[in-house]
Amino acid sequence: MAEFNPKSLKAEEFINDGEIRATLEYAEANKNNVELIDEILEKARPKKTETGYVCAGLTHREASVLLACDIPEKIEEIYKIAEEIKLAFYGNRIVIFAPLYLSNYCINGCVYCPYHRQNKCITRKKLTQEEVKAEVIALQDMGHKRLAIEAGEDPKNNPIEYILECINTIYSVNHKNGAIRRVNVNIAATTVENYRKLKDAGIGTYILFQETYHKESYLQLHPSGPKHDYDYHTEAMDRAMEGGIDDVGLGVLFGLELYKYEFAGLIMHAEHLEAVHGVGPHTISVPRIKHADDIDPGAFDNSISDDIFAKITACIRLAVPYTGIIISTRESEEVRSKLLRLGVSQVSGGSRTSVGGYTQEERPHDTEQFDVSDQRTLDEVVHWLMQNGHIPSFCTACYREGRTGDRFMSLCKSGQILNCCHPNALMTLTEYLTDYASEETKKTGFEVIEKELTKIPKEKVRQIAEDNIRDIKNSNRRDFRF
Ligand code: SAM
Repeated sequence: MAEFNPKSLKAEEFINDGEIRATLEYAEANKNNVELIDEILEKARPKKTETGYVCAGLTHREASVLLACDIPEKIEEIYKIAEEIKLAFYGNRIVIFAPLYLSNYCINGCVYCPYHRQNKCITRKKLTQEEVKAEVIALQDMGHKRLAIEAGEDPKNNPIEYILECINTIYSVNHKNGAIRRVNVNIAATTVENYRKLKDAGIGTYILFQETYHKESYLQLHPSGPKHDYDYHTEAMDRAMEGGIDDVGLGVLFGLELYKYEFAGLIMHAEHLEAVHGVGPHTISVPRIKHADDIDPGAFDNSISDDIFAKITACIRLAVPYTGIIISTRESEEVRSKLLRLGVSQVSGGSRTSVGGYTQEERPHDTEQFDVSDQRTLDEVVHWLMQNGHIPSFCTACYREGRTGDRFMSLCKSGQILNCCHPNALMTLTEYLTDYASEETKKTGFEVIEKELTKIPKEKVRQIAEDNIRDIKNSNRRDFRF
């Protein structure tokens, strides 16, 4: 039987089923152990030091105890600490992005995804480079600077060369003041060699959702195609790191398996990356199964309520304090509002999940991956974020300045975010407001920026940011960054 070993490169050892089961038993036995829960909460709390805040994070066992706990006052405390951690490391900034679907050709059999090979009804489509350009122009005209490209797995229709060509095209389009400055990639698990090619193409984060950490369920949910190989999929992030990509994004598709099992597996995966590569996941996504072409979410037994969903998100924030937490437009405005108070740091806006969807006037459904709950425009999302006290950030500076992997983490940990990310967020927000926003959003935005500038501790940095913001408003300058 496989032994638990976070440093091992073998999936069955770092995502060890026996250890997950023991963790769930431990969590269940201690879910009302107030003394232990208080100890864990104390450990999770951000501590102020001379150089900023530090946070210990939690082990998968500790975090699982919090997730199992159903004492209302303790849950409130978990939520409070989640917000404190988010504010300590990320401030009130929320990073904005959009997905870009390149192709829905797929040879896998994933039972929750309408792109599965057996679906003969869905329209199959793959963007040409001209179509990629047109989509990128549409996205730039909305104001986007950061994309996550998405594609099904199909070595014939979507080989790595096609993905690389698309990335190249995306970076090459400059429409008016527009530019896509960071392309994150969400494609199927691949080889070290291909990860190296993606790294060389200048990608930001490599994102791959585990879907489920439960091996038996995984094999049933992925009955055919290359994705059926659980170990190859689970070990993908190690190959990505070996290929030189040091920002990787984890995720679970909640609803497929029991959430407590998934949660323990997810935190163990983060621990494994930290133990082996010295850097944890750059992001963690928390998607839930949605209705899609031939997919009925009701057919999956493990759906979770909004309250459990909130608790999972907050517990992730306590366990992995430095990671970015992503919530997509799969979720409604109401759910997103709640989660933004519990540690989420990235949201998508104005998203379309169909291939070629951004160039169509009406939201197309024929090639769509799943229904989008939050169908507001990017302008509406930006305005709403600011009205709720957040700063929408279009910043992509860290990765372009080489602050990836552990260099990003050390910036985060040293409390330099307010002197670096905050001014960058305000400058990129000014770009957005000047170039793309409605009059109403502009008005709110410029008032917010004025107030937020006063929070920059270093006077010299503040002065540079103010000068740049003035220049951007006069359309004299774009893309300055700290
Ligand atoms: N083909 C790649 C792979 O296998 O990882 C890219 C993934 S796909 C374009 C992006 C993600 O969408 C999947 O990893 C899955 O978690 C999610 N997804 C698939 N079907 C979904 C559904 N019905 N509702 C919500 N999310 C879904």
